[in-house]
Amino acid sequence: MSSVILTIATGNKHKAQEIAAILPAHFVVRTLADYPALPEIEETGSTFAENARLKACGISAAIEGLVLADDSGLCVDALGGAPGVFSARYAGEHGNDAANNAKLLADLAAMPAGTPATARFMCAMCLAEGGQVKAEFIGSVEGCITSSPAGEHGFGYDPLFVPAGYNCTMAELPAEQKNAISHRANALKQFVAYLAQ
Ligand code: IMP
Repeated sequence: MSSVILTIATGNKHKAQEIAAILPAHFVVRTLADYPALPEIEETGSTFAENARLKACGISAAIEGLVLADDSGLCVDALGGAPGVFSARYAGEHGNDAANNAKLLADLAAMPAGTPATARFMCAMCLAEGGQVKAEFIGSVEGCITSSPAGEHGFGYDPLFVPAGYNCTMAELPAEQKNAISHRANALKQFVAYLAQ
């Protein structure tokens, strides 16, 4: 199969690593680290899909070739879908996973006893070229939130998220297992199928 050069429009190294590990070997993956002079894209959208579009279009307007953006996060039913698009900065500081997890547990602990802790990870991906959207994909994985963090793998809310059908957190699963069931894997499957058409 001939190779496909793809730039992942993310500064999050965990996402980039997972995407590179999930994609088949004919993808040559670049990240924003390969383009240090690119402008910062503000995530001002109110949905994952809008933010993915902003990132994919903004970056692909500035560089050659296919650009894939991932906007993702955790949606907890009892919290009305929060943290949602604010997942990365739920506790205030962008990317402070420990603070975000602590705030999530505190928010759930403040709910009436017996409140279900059902949740899902969502991933919106947008493929763009020359500043224009080519295709969009949505992936998700259902689960629930545990009462205390467990596991060392993954990132973000993985230590609190128990995928449906498992009795351990996402962070207790080895990378290959997370990458087989995750919201990101789900969206990437659709992306790979789209390019193979
Ligand atoms: P984004 O970079 O604005 O898309 O924010 C993504 C945020 O959502 C991350 O900082 C994490 O808090 C959370 N998140 C997204 N995907 C995952 C995942 O696979 N595991 C755990 N947390 C995730």
